[in-house]
Amino acid sequence: MRYVSTRGLPDDPRPGFSDILLEGLAPDGGLYLPEAYPHADEATLAGWRALLATEGYAALADAVVGLYVDDIPSDDLRALCERAYNDRVFATADVVPVTALDGGLWLAHLSDGPTAAFKDLAMQLLGQLFEYELERRGQELNILGATSGDTGSAAEYAMLGLDRVRVFMLTPAGRMTPFQQAQMFSLDDPSIVNVAVEGVFDDCQDLVKAVASDLAFKQRYALGAVNSINWARLVAQVVYYIAAWLRVTTANDQRVSFCVPTGNFGNIMAGHVARMMGVPIDTLVLATNENNVLDEFFRTGVYRVRAASETHATSSPSMDISKASNFERFVFDLLGRDATLVRELFAVRLVTDGFFDLSGTPEFASLRERFGFVSDSSTHADRLANIAEVWKRDGVLVDPHTADGVKVAREFVDPGVPMIVTETALPVKFAETIREATGREPARPARFAGIEDLPRHVVDLPNDAGALKALIAARVGS
Ligand SMILES: *Cc1c(COP(=O)(O)O)cnc(C)c1O
Repeated sequence: MRYVSTRGLPDDPRPGFSDILLEGLAPDGGLYLPEAYPHADEATLAGWRALLATEGYAALADAVVGLYVDDIPSDDLRALCERAYNDRVFATADVVPVTALDGGLWLAHLSDGPTAAFKDLAMQLLGQLFEYELERRGQELNILGATSGDTGSAAEYAMLGLDRVRVFMLTPAGRMTPFQQAQMFSLDDPSIVNVAVEGVFDDCQDLVKAVASDLAFKQRYALGAVNSINWARLVAQVVYYIAAWLRVTTANDQRVSFCVPTGNFGNIMAGHVARMMGVPIDTLVLATNENNVLDEFFRTGVYRVRAASETHATSSPSMDISKASNFERFVFDLLGRDATLVRELFAVRLVTDGFFDLSGTPEFASLRERFGFVSDSSTHADRLANIAEVWKRDGVLVDPHTADGVKVAREFVDPGVPMIVTETALPVKFAETIREATGREPARPARFAGIEDLPRHVVDLPNDAGALKALIAARVGS
């Protein structure tokens, strides 16, 4: 399997999976995609059904991810999947269990990992792949990132205990929930460096950019990233779409729909890939919160990024984004993989005009029919109402992001087609909104008992790139 960029480069030789694993953007500023999606025929689907039933999630992951990787021996890939997906890392041996809800809905539980958000499913495999590839190359990697919550903690728990990876994770001082702070700051490991920056999340991101754009420094200290545009993260996410479809159906001609709360188009892009591979997915329902950049596109054909000042701080904060970093991949497929046009839209029009408009095009007109997409958005009041309603009807507490999904999913349920909502986090991470909706305290899984009382490991830092460089130099050595 070879990879292409959404903006047309590189030509030949095209890179393989391991070549792009440790990279971010393609050299032309585009995103990597496989040159073609492997097709899962009837026999493949039947094989996956048997595999999940007999050997479990890790075996399925190996089979699916293996279709995209031809530069890691298959026994090795299987071992990496076994290390990422097992009942020591996840709360259940199923890894991704499903629960039926009232009204034709299902929940796919993606939050049973170490940090109680779906990002664990991608990050755990990414950590194993990184360690494997770095070992093979005799290299080490220092991940430098910024987080407002879920991504940073998922990265830290995935890289914990690896020999060749160190993590520097910047957080805005005092701005994460106490639970999120405790999750990260309680980690006691010299290779995990939590940094609390005097400032907001955007300041943290600007610091990362400032340091990473000093190419001499970046090279000297082997700096890398774990951002959501990494192809390996996406392909790991394809697996849970297939697992959820298998768990909800009994035969391979039964179709399901998915409703996915999203902001960056990361999670639902993996659903699109699964559908392109031939997994029997009927509709992909996209749900946003008040930051409805993506919902606007799927309803109107206009993609208009927002200024940071236009981005609302909502009660589903992990979807508060102004531009969707993975969306370019979908547009590439939508436009028949016309890289010249994608480059024009993303590198020119979006930069000069702040938007592009596909509303009059035949591609946009056939979007639902060809790609199965529909969308809507949710508000704080919707979120509260749906948390309360699922609790009352089903006795299940869902987190605010998942509630956005439930709200939008109900609008598109088709009789006879199970509608699977992807659960994105456990309610314990967002207790305040759960209390507001239900008057109850969300259950806290035993693995998170008392984490706020553990000693905190965090370095305070002024909002200054020089100070950050000095910290990295001191910890890495030269
Ligand atoms: C990251 C995250 C999302 C949004 O994911 P996308 O990559 O934008 O699809 C939604 N909910 C939670 C809890 C998250 O952590």
